[in-house]
Amino acid sequence: MKIISTPLELKKILKENTKKIGFVPTMGALHEGHISLIKKAKEENELVVVSIFVNPTQFLKGEDLDKYPKKDEADKVICELCDVDILFFPNASDIYGQDEVSLVAPNVRGFVLEGTSRPSHFNGVLTVVMKLLNMVNPSKAYFGKKDAQQLNLIELMVKQLFMSVEIVPVDTVREKDGLALSSRNVYLSEPQRVEALKISTSLKEASDMISKNIMDSKKIKKRMVKILEPLEIFYVEILNRDFNLIDDVEVGNTIILVEVKVGNTRLLDNIWL
Ligand code: AMP
Repeated sequence: MKIISTPLELKKILKENTKKIGFVPTMGALHEGHISLIKKAKEENELVVVSIFVNPTQFLKGEDLDKYPKKDEADKVICELCDVDILFFPNASDIYGQDEVSLVAPNVRGFVLEGTSRPSHFNGVLTVVMKLLNMVNPSKAYFGKKDAQQLNLIELMVKQLFMSVEIVPVDTVREKDGLALSSRNVYLSEPQRVEALKISTSLKEASDMISKNIMDSKKIKKRMVKILEPLEIFYVEILNRDFNLIDDVEVGNTIILVEVKVGNTRLLDNIWL
């Protein structure tokens, strides 16, 4: 595995490349969720590039940029064990200069849900993903369905900017008890972790209601909120796959999304039905 830290070096190495590249962008503190993306990329491509970059522009003032979990050495070992070909590990000064050109997420999709409480978050995400995709120039890039709104906006960006990369969505990996894996789970104390299980319990309840043919979004949301309380709820929403609110669940075209705060930690999760 080659470890590369500058975009120039990366471009130089990939310039001669004729292999089909699969790309997995991450912010590090790798877990089984990231590993499932890497495994899929390994299966479907001849050369796999993983990036680890905690992108400052997608954090708002007061968020956890400075204490975002970091385990560089363990991450390198994981990438080595997963047979990653190139690990790209840049610094912020390698990625950003002065007077930056940046992308703006559309109001409707970028500013509902997470965007409402984190304005400009998705501008930062789209800009860095665009930069990374341009540096790596992959055939396919892998993103988790766990960050459904991020995935949706990246798919939209690729379509609207006529980019040629294929975006591959990957299912959410969970702990045995249902908690979705997240780098931020390390912030949770044991009692908070128990509280956090309310998220997957509420989603399971929604899915059970739907299997009993209860399709009314209002009824489902009400039940979910009851399970989640007294956690601070940022949103519980039922959307179609184009991210429009729907009154009734449409099986095969629905995403149910939750974001809550447990202690000081924002946790999000969703199910695709
Ligand atoms: P992050 O390092 O949190 O920016 O995540 C990097 C990629 O891994 C993103 O595409 C995430 O959606 C994806 N990811 C994070 N957690 C999970 C999970 N539990 N299951 C599957 N993919 C995940």
